[in-house]
Amino acid sequence: MTESKTAYAVSVVVPIFNEVESLPRLYQEVREAMEAAGVAYEIIFVDDGSTDGSAELLRELHQEAPQTVRYIVFRRNFGQTAAMAAGFDCAQHEVIVPIDADLQNDPHDIPRLLEKIDEGYDVVSGWRADRKDKLLSRRLPSMMANRLISAITGVHLHDYGCTLKAYHREVAEHMNFYGELHRFLPVLASWAGARVAEIEVNHRPREFGQSKYGIGRTLRVVLDLITIKFLLSYSTKPMQVFGKWGMAAMATGFGAALITLAQKLWKGQDVTDNAWLFIAMFFSLGGLQLIGMGLLGEINVRTYYESQQKSIYTIREQSESE
Ligand code: UDP
Ligand code: MG
Repeated sequence: MTESKTAYAVSVVVPIFNEVESLPRLYQEVREAMEAAGVAYEIIFVDDGSTDGSAELLRELHQEAPQTVRYIVFRRNFGQTAAMAAGFDCAQHEVIVPIDADLQNDPHDIPRLLEKIDEGYDVVSGWRADRKDKLLSRRLPSMMANRLISAITGVHLHDYGCTLKAYHREVAEHMNFYGELHRFLPVLASWAGARVAEIEVNHRPREFGQSKYGIGRTLRVVLDLITIKFLLSYSTKPMQVFGKWGMAAMATGFGAALITLAQKLWKGQDVTDNAWLFIAMFFSLGGLQLIGMGLLGEINVRTYYESQQKSIYTIREQSESE
Protein backbone atom coordinates (compact mmCIF):
# COMPACT_ATOMS: atom_id res chain seq x y z
CA MET A 1 0.00 0.00 0.00
CA THR A 2 1.23 3.52 -0.72
CA GLU A 3 2.42 5.65 2.13
CA SER A 4 -0.33 8.10 3.01
CA LYS A 5 0.57 11.77 3.27
CA THR A 6 -2.26 12.51 5.65
CA ALA A 7 -1.29 14.82 8.47
CA TYR A 8 -4.28 13.84 10.55
CA ALA A 9 -4.47 11.46 13.46
CA VAL A 10 -7.63 9.40 13.58
CA SER A 11 -10.06 8.23 16.25
CA VAL A 12 -11.85 5.10 15.07
CA VAL A 13 -15.18 4.68 16.89
CA VAL A 14 -16.76 1.22 17.05
CA PRO A 15 -20.32 0.76 18.40
CA ILE A 16 -20.75 -2.79 19.69
CA PHE A 17 -23.84 -4.73 20.57
CA ASN A 18 -23.08 -8.43 20.99
CA GLU A 19 -20.33 -8.77 18.40
CA VAL A 20 -17.68 -10.52 20.49
CA GLU A 21 -16.70 -12.95 17.72
CA SER A 22 -15.86 -10.18 15.27
CA LEU A 23 -13.86 -7.99 17.60
CA PRO A 24 -10.40 -9.63 17.45
CA ARG A 25 -10.37 -9.58 13.66
CA LEU A 26 -11.77 -6.08 13.48
CA TYR A 27 -9.04 -4.84 15.79
CA GLN A 28 -6.43 -6.69 13.72
CA GLU A 29 -7.72 -5.23 10.44
CA VAL A 30 -7.92 -1.67 11.74
CA ARG A 31 -4.35 -1.95 12.99
CA GLU A 32 -3.13 -3.34 9.68
CA ALA A 33 -4.87 -0.65 7.67
CA MET A 34 -3.70 2.24 9.81
CA GLU A 35 -0.14 1.03 10.13
CA ALA A 36 0.17 0.36 6.41
CA ALA A 37 -1.04 3.89 5.74
CA GLY A 38 1.25 5.35 8.40
CA VAL A 39 -1.59 7.08 10.22
CA ALA A 40 -1.53 7.81 13.96
CA TYR A 41 -4.72 6.44 15.50
CA GLU A 42 -6.69 5.30 18.50
CA ILE A 43 -9.63 2.90 18.58
CA ILE A 44 -12.55 3.65 20.86
CA PHE A 45 -14.76 0.63 21.41
CA VAL A 46 -18.20 1.40 22.83
CA ASP A 47 -19.96 -1.61 24.27
CA ASP A 48 -23.65 -0.79 24.02
CA GLY A 49 -24.87 -3.15 26.75
CA SER A 50 -23.66 -6.43 25.21
CA THR A 51 -24.36 -9.64 27.12
CA ASP A 52 -21.90 -11.86 25.25
CA GLY A 53 -18.69 -10.98 27.08
CA SER A 54 -17.64 -8.19 24.71
CA ALA A 55 -16.72 -6.01 27.70
CA GLU A 56 -14.23 -8.57 29.06
CA LEU A 57 -12.55 -8.80 25.67
CA LEU A 58 -12.33 -5.00 25.44
CA ARG A 59 -10.63 -4.89 28.82
CA GLU A 60 -8.03 -7.38 27.56
CA LEU A 61 -7.42 -5.48 24.33
CA HIS A 62 -6.98 -2.28 26.32
CA GLN A 63 -4.43 -3.92 28.62
CA GLU A 64 -2.40 -5.08 25.62
CA ALA A 65 -2.30 -1.63 24.05
CA PRO A 66 -3.52 1.01 26.51
CA GLN A 67 -2.49 3.93 24.29
CA THR A 68 -4.27 2.67 21.19
CA VAL A 69 -7.31 0.88 22.54
CA ARG A 70 -9.81 2.74 24.68
CA TYR A 71 -13.22 1.51 25.65
CA ILE A 72 -16.52 2.54 27.15
CA VAL A 73 -19.07 0.10 28.53
CA PHE A 74 -22.69 1.23 28.79
CA ARG A 75 -24.88 0.11 31.67
CA ARG A 76 -27.52 -1.07 29.24
CA ASN A 77 -28.31 -1.06 25.53
CA PHE A 78 -28.89 2.57 24.50
CA GLY A 79 -28.76 2.06 20.73
CA GLN A 80 -26.19 2.58 18.00
CA THR A 81 -26.60 6.36 17.86
CA ALA A 82 -25.90 6.71 21.59
CA ALA A 83 -22.90 4.40 21.31
CA MET A 84 -21.48 6.49 18.49
CA ALA A 85 -22.14 9.70 20.41
CA ALA A 86 -20.19 8.40 23.40
CA GLY A 87 -17.27 7.50 21.13
CA PHE A 88 -17.33 10.91 19.43
CA ASP A 89 -17.44 12.63 22.82
CA CYS A 90 -14.21 11.10 24.03
CA ALA A 91 -12.34 11.01 20.68
CA GLN A 92 -9.05 12.88 20.90
CA HIS A 93 -7.89 13.13 17.31
CA GLU A 94 -8.65 15.49 14.43
CA VAL A 95 -10.60 13.01 12.32
CA ILE A 96 -13.28 10.69 13.67
CA VAL A 97 -14.17 7.52 11.78
CA PRO A 98 -17.11 5.41 12.99
CA ILE A 99 -17.17 1.82 11.74
CA ASP A 100 -19.45 -1.19 12.36
CA ALA A 101 -18.16 -3.86 14.71
CA ASP A 102 -19.49 -6.74 12.62
CA LEU A 103 -16.76 -6.61 9.91
CA GLN A 104 -19.31 -5.61 7.26
CA ASN A 105 -17.38 -2.37 6.75
CA ASP A 106 -13.79 -2.85 5.61
CA PRO A 107 -11.16 -1.01 7.71
CA HIS A 108 -8.89 -0.95 4.66
CA ASP A 109 -11.18 1.75 3.24
CA ILE A 110 -10.24 4.17 6.04
CA PRO A 111 -7.08 5.55 4.35
CA ARG A 112 -9.17 6.39 1.26
CA LEU A 113 -11.65 8.31 3.40
CA LEU A 114 -8.71 10.20 4.89
CA GLU A 115 -7.40 11.12 1.45
CA LYS A 116 -10.73 12.82 0.77
CA ILE A 117 -10.51 14.68 4.07
CA ASP A 118 -7.04 15.80 2.98
CA GLU A 119 -8.60 17.24 -0.15
CA GLY A 120 -10.50 19.63 2.09
CA TYR A 121 -13.81 17.89 2.75
CA ASP A 122 -15.23 18.02 6.28
CA VAL A 123 -17.30 14.84 6.01
CA VAL A 124 -16.66 11.84 3.77
CA SER A 125 -19.48 9.33 3.61
CA GLY A 126 -19.11 5.68 2.63
CA TRP A 127 -21.35 4.29 -0.11
CA ARG A 128 -21.90 0.54 0.01
CA ALA A 129 -22.35 0.32 -3.75
CA ASP A 130 -22.36 -3.47 -3.66
CA ARG A 131 -24.19 -4.05 -0.41
CA LYS A 132 -24.16 -7.60 0.97
CA ASP A 133 -27.47 -7.69 2.80
CA LYS A 134 -30.87 -9.25 2.12
CA LEU A 135 -32.62 -7.68 -0.87
CA LEU A 136 -36.24 -7.52 0.27
CA SER A 137 -35.91 -6.69 3.94
CA ARG A 138 -32.84 -4.47 3.78
CA ARG A 139 -31.56 -3.26 0.43
CA LEU A 140 -34.88 -2.37 -1.15
CA PRO A 141 -36.32 -0.37 1.79
CA SER A 142 -32.95 1.27 2.22
CA MET A 143 -32.84 2.27 -1.45
CA MET A 144 -36.24 3.93 -1.15
CA ALA A 145 -35.29 5.62 2.12
CA ASN A 146 -32.09 6.94 0.56
CA ARG A 147 -33.98 8.44 -2.37
CA LEU A 148 -36.50 10.06 -0.03
CA ILE A 149 -33.82 11.49 2.25
CA SER A 150 -31.94 12.84 -0.74
CA ALA A 151 -35.05 14.54 -2.14
CA ILE A 152 -36.24 16.02 1.14
CA THR A 153 -32.95 17.14 2.63
CA GLY A 154 -31.32 18.36 -0.58
CA VAL A 155 -28.06 16.72 0.51
CA HIS A 156 -27.51 14.17 -2.22
CA LEU A 157 -25.82 10.95 -1.12
CA HIS A 158 -26.46 7.39 -2.29
CA ASP A 159 -26.15 5.70 1.07
CA TYR A 160 -26.93 7.53 4.30
CA GLY A 161 -27.04 4.37 6.41
CA CYS A 162 -23.42 3.32 5.98
CA THR A 163 -21.71 3.66 9.35
CA LEU A 164 -18.24 4.01 7.83
CA LYS A 165 -17.68 7.73 7.40
CA ALA A 166 -15.01 10.25 8.28
CA TYR A 167 -15.72 13.48 10.12
CA HIS A 168 -13.41 16.37 10.68
CA ARG A 169 -13.45 17.09 14.38
CA GLU A 170 -14.58 20.70 13.95
CA VAL A 171 -17.85 19.72 12.32
CA ALA A 172 -18.32 16.71 14.64
CA GLU A 173 -18.27 19.07 17.60
CA HIS A 174 -21.33 20.90 16.31
CA MET A 175 -23.40 17.78 15.80
CA ASN A 176 -26.11 16.54 18.12
CA PHE A 177 -27.02 12.89 18.29
CA TYR A 178 -30.63 11.96 19.02
CA GLY A 179 -32.91 9.01 18.25
CA GLU A 180 -31.68 7.13 15.22
CA LEU A 181 -30.13 10.26 13.85
CA HIS A 182 -26.62 8.99 13.22
CA ARG A 183 -27.39 8.38 9.56
CA PHE A 184 -28.39 12.01 9.17
CA LEU A 185 -25.17 13.42 10.53
CA PRO A 186 -23.79 14.27 7.05
CA VAL A 187 -27.07 16.08 6.36
CA LEU A 188 -26.89 18.06 9.59
CA ALA A 189 -23.23 18.80 8.91
CA SER A 190 -23.96 19.93 5.38
CA TRP A 191 -26.76 22.21 6.60
CA ALA A 192 -24.24 23.73 9.00
CA GLY A 193 -22.06 24.51 5.99
CA ALA A 194 -19.71 21.49 5.97
CA ARG A 195 -18.26 20.20 2.69
CA VAL A 196 -19.55 16.67 2.23
CA ALA A 197 -18.17 14.02 -0.17
CA GLU A 198 -19.06 10.41 -0.84
CA ILE A 199 -16.83 7.52 -1.92
CA GLU A 200 -17.61 3.89 -2.70
CA VAL A 201 -16.57 1.48 0.02
CA ASN A 202 -16.35 -2.26 0.29
CA HIS A 203 -19.18 -4.12 2.03
CA ARG A 204 -18.97 -7.69 3.24
CA PRO A 205 -21.59 -10.21 4.30
CA ARG A 206 -22.07 -10.68 8.02
CA GLU A 207 -20.02 -13.66 9.18
CA PHE A 208 -20.82 -13.73 12.88
CA GLY A 209 -23.91 -12.93 14.92
CA GLN A 210 -27.05 -11.32 13.59
CA SER A 211 -28.16 -7.94 12.36
CA LYS A 212 -29.72 -5.87 15.12
CA TYR A 213 -32.26 -4.34 12.80
CA GLY A 214 -35.18 -5.45 10.61
CA ILE A 215 -37.65 -3.83 8.26
CA GLY A 216 -39.10 -1.80 11.16
CA ARG A 217 -36.16 0.54 11.02
CA THR A 218 -37.38 2.09 7.77
CA LEU A 219 -40.36 3.62 9.56
CA ARG A 220 -38.16 5.05 12.30
CA VAL A 221 -35.89 6.54 9.67
CA VAL A 222 -38.85 8.27 8.03
CA LEU A 223 -39.97 9.70 11.39
CA ASP A 224 -36.46 10.99 12.01
CA LEU A 225 -36.47 12.51 8.55
CA ILE A 226 -39.58 14.53 9.45
CA THR A 227 -37.87 15.66 12.66
CA ILE A 228 -34.70 16.89 11.02
CA LYS A 229 -36.55 18.56 8.16
CA PHE A 230 -38.59 20.36 10.81
CA LEU A 231 -35.44 21.34 12.67
CA LEU A 232 -33.89 22.76 9.53
CA SER A 233 -36.85 24.79 8.37
CA TYR A 234 -38.23 26.04 11.61
CA SER A 235 -35.77 25.81 14.42
CA THR A 236 -34.55 29.39 14.37
CA LYS A 237 -37.74 31.04 13.15
CA PRO A 238 -40.91 29.27 14.33
CA MET A 239 -43.03 32.44 14.27
CA GLN A 240 -42.18 32.97 10.61
CA VAL A 241 -43.50 29.53 9.77
CA PHE A 242 -46.47 29.09 12.09
CA GLY A 243 -47.28 32.78 11.91
CA LYS A 244 -47.56 32.71 8.13
CA TRP A 245 -50.15 29.93 8.19
CA GLY A 246 -51.83 31.51 11.20
CA MET A 247 -52.26 34.83 9.39
CA ALA A 248 -53.56 33.07 6.29
CA ALA A 249 -56.10 31.13 8.37
CA MET A 250 -57.24 34.24 10.22
CA ALA A 251 -57.64 36.17 6.98
CA THR A 252 -59.75 33.31 5.61
CA GLY A 253 -61.82 33.30 8.79
CA PHE A 254 -62.32 37.06 8.62
CA GLY A 255 -63.39 36.82 4.97
CA ALA A 256 -65.88 34.08 5.80
CA ALA A 257 -67.26 36.16 8.68
CA LEU A 258 -67.79 39.10 6.29
CA ILE A 259 -69.66 36.83 3.87
CA THR A 260 -71.85 35.55 6.73
CA LEU A 261 -72.64 39.10 7.78
CA ALA A 262 -73.32 40.29 4.24
CA GLN A 263 -75.70 37.40 3.60
CA LYS A 264 -77.54 38.20 6.84
CA LEU A 265 -77.85 41.90 6.03
CA TRP A 266 -78.75 41.73 2.37
CA LYS A 267 -80.43 38.36 1.96
CA GLY A 268 -81.78 37.83 5.47
CA GLN A 269 -79.95 34.48 5.55
CA ASP A 270 -80.04 32.90 9.04
CA VAL A 271 -76.54 33.12 10.57
CA THR A 272 -76.67 29.85 12.53
CA ASP A 273 -77.81 27.96 9.45
CA ASN A 274 -74.98 29.28 7.29
CA ALA A 275 -71.90 27.12 6.48
CA TRP A 276 -69.79 30.30 6.17
CA LEU A 277 -70.20 30.89 9.90
CA PHE A 278 -68.53 27.59 10.68
CA ILE A 279 -65.75 28.26 8.22
CA ALA A 280 -65.23 31.65 9.86
CA MET A 281 -65.09 30.11 13.33
CA PHE A 282 -62.84 27.25 12.34
CA PHE A 283 -60.29 29.35 10.53
CA SER A 284 -60.09 32.20 13.00
CA LEU A 285 -59.66 29.85 15.97
CA GLY A 286 -57.17 27.70 14.03
CA GLY A 287 -55.24 30.81 12.96
CA LEU A 288 -55.11 32.11 16.50
CA GLN A 289 -53.71 28.78 17.69
CA LEU A 290 -51.06 28.70 14.99
CA ILE A 291 -49.88 32.16 15.94
CA GLY A 292 -49.85 31.09 19.58
CA MET A 293 -47.75 28.06 18.65
CA GLY A 294 -45.35 30.31 16.78
CA LEU A 295 -44.94 32.47 19.86
CA LEU A 296 -44.38 29.45 22.11
CA GLY A 297 -41.88 28.20 19.54
CA GLU A 298 -40.01 31.50 19.73
CA ILE A 299 -39.74 31.12 23.50
CA ASN A 300 -38.42 27.59 23.08
CA VAL A 301 -35.87 28.65 20.50
CA ARG A 302 -34.56 31.30 22.85
CA THR A 303 -34.31 28.83 25.71
CA TYR A 304 -32.56 26.34 23.43
CA TYR A 305 -29.93 28.64 22.04
CA GLU A 306 -29.36 30.85 25.04
CA SER A 307 -29.35 28.29 27.85
CA GLN A 308 -26.84 26.15 25.98
CA GLN A 309 -24.90 29.05 24.50
CA LYS A 310 -25.54 27.59 21.08
CA SER A 311 -24.73 29.68 18.08
CA ILE A 312 -27.14 30.14 15.17
CA TYR A 313 -24.21 30.19 12.74
CA THR A 314 -21.00 28.25 12.10
CA ILE A 315 -17.64 29.70 11.08
CA ARG A 316 -15.14 28.04 8.76
CA GLU A 317 -12.31 30.52 9.18
CA GLN A 318 -11.57 33.89 10.71
CA SER A 319 -8.66 36.25 11.17
CA GLU A 320 -6.30 35.57 14.08
CA SER A 321 -7.39 38.52 16.18
CA GLU A 322 -10.95 37.17 16.58
N1 UDP B 1 -25.22 -1.64 17.34
C1 UDP B 1 -25.12 -1.02 18.58
N2 UDP B 1 -26.26 -0.92 19.35
C2 UDP B 1 -27.47 -1.38 18.92
C3 UDP B 1 -27.56 -1.98 17.65
C4 UDP B 1 -26.41 -2.09 16.88
O1 UDP B 1 -24.05 -0.60 19.00
O2 UDP B 1 -28.45 -1.26 19.66
C5 UDP B 1 -23.99 -1.77 16.52
C6 UDP B 1 -23.73 -3.17 16.03
O3 UDP B 1 -23.01 -3.92 16.97
C7 UDP B 1 -22.92 -2.91 14.77
C8 UDP B 1 -23.54 -1.62 14.24
O4 UDP B 1 -24.19 -1.02 15.36
O5 UDP B 1 -21.57 -2.67 15.07
C9 UDP B 1 -24.52 -1.87 13.11
O6 UDP B 1 -25.47 -2.84 13.48
P1 UDP B 1 -25.92 -4.01 12.50
O7 UDP B 1 -24.74 -4.65 11.85
O8 UDP B 1 -26.84 -4.92 13.26
O9 UDP B 1 -26.77 -3.22 11.41
P2 UDP B 1 -26.82 -3.53 9.83
O10 UDP B 1 -25.40 -3.65 9.34
O11 UDP B 1 -27.54 -4.83 9.72
O12 UDP B 1 -27.55 -2.37 9.28
MG1 MG C 1 -23.97 -4.88 9.95
